[in-house]
Amino acid sequence: VERKTRQRAAILRAFDEVRGPMGPHEVLEVARIHAPGLGIATVYRALRGMVEDGSLSPVELPGEPTRYERSGRGHHHHFRCYTCDRVFEVEGCPADLARLAPPGFEVQDHEVLLYGRCVTCIAA
Ligand SMILES: [Zn+2]
Ligand SMILES: [Zn+2]
Repeated sequence: VERKTRQRAAILRAFDEVRGPMGPHEVLEVARIHAPGLGIATVYRALRGMVEDGSLSPVELPGEPTRYERSGRGHHHHFRCYTCDRVFEVEGCPADLARLAPPGFEVQDHEVLLYGRCVTCIAA
C-alpha cells in the first residue's frame, strides 16, 4: 500500500512538473525520476483510477491516443509539436470566435488546437 501511494504521488507530481497533457509513456518517463521501479502497467492502472476519482481528465486530439491532464485547469487550449509529438497547454483564448459562425447561428462551444514546432525543437 505504501509503495502504491508513493507511485501515485510520483505520477501526480509528474503532471505538476510538465505543463501539458501526457500519454502513459511520457508519464512513465517523468514519474520514474521520483519512483524508480515504476512500470507501464502501474501507470495505466493509476491513470484509469485518477480519471475515475476526478484528479485527471482525458485530452483527446483528433486521431491520437488519449493523453491526460490535471482536472480543474479551467478553459484553455493546446499546442502540438510536429517534431517531438508533445502537447503543451496554451494560455488564453481567441475571444471573438463566435463571429465565425454563419449569421443567425449561436456558438455554444469551440475547439482550438495549434500545430507547429515547440521552442525546444526549434533550438535543437
Ligand atoms: Zn517539440
Ligand atoms: Zn477557448
